[in-house]
Amino acid sequence: MGKTLRVAGTIGESIVDGPGLRYVIFTQGCPHACPGCHNPETHDFAGGTEIDSDVLAADILKNPLLSGVTFSGGEPFCQAEALCAVADALGGKKRLMAYTGYTFEQLLTLPDPFVLRLLSQLDLLVDGRFVEAERNISLRFRGSENQRVLDVPASLAAGTAVWDETYR
Ligand code: SF4
Repeated sequence: MGKTLRVAGTIGESIVDGPGLRYVIFTQGCPHACPGCHNPETHDFAGGTEIDSDVLAADILKNPLLSGVTFSGGEPFCQAEALCAVADALGGKKRLMAYTGYTFEQLLTLPDPFVLRLLSQLDLLVDGRFVEAERNISLRFRGSENQRVLDVPASLAAGTAVWDETYR
């Protein structure tokens, strides 16, 4: 028995939510209320459905073709403990990436200790709220110019946001 995660849905195979072929988990619940958000149905913290982290991880591990898993939202970092449980159950077999409406700097100030633990399990982080005035459909893996694709291990080591230059 793992941890309970509230999700808006999942996609078994995606090539648009990060590098390679990825499983995508859309977490349910988001506090950011970005104007122009494409997924308003994911905002309600009481919406979606509940799923056990072990069940989710087993579903992911069934597909050997997957190169990674993307935690999207909603706001994944509002359920950091349950996502850490998913990551633990995957045992390092898949590369992990997350989207967040927080900036990297804001994440470091959140009181939930699982936020830092979740960050430490990620390769990539796309951070910052979606800003409609800065929307640009040609950007890779992000929706607006203000968002960044960060190299998480390098960012944590430096204590400041470090771009993954592959995606700038
Ligand atoms: S953080 Fe994402 S899900 Fe939340 S309101 Fe902004 S764009 Fe929508």
